Amino acid sequence: MTGPARRPVRMCVRCDRLTEAPVLVAEVHAGSGPGFNVYACPECAPHVPKPPDALDLLATGRPDRPRDR
Ligand SMILES: [Zn+2]
Repeated sequence: MTGPARRPVRMCVRCDRLTEAPVLVAEVHAGSGPGFNVYACPECAPHVPKPPDALDLLATGRPDRPRDR
């Protein structure tokens, strides 16, 4: 493959389309282990109301909420 340059192509969280101009709309910080960033395309970025469901699922393991054993 011979491209002009390597661009940070990301998949939009809203429309699932690949964009070469991703906009960071959310950051996921896992309690342990690496987190990841959520991107949207420039058209969708202003319309992303809140983190998607995936963020809520990951948030259940937040370290600031002690577990009762
Ligand atoms: Zn989009």
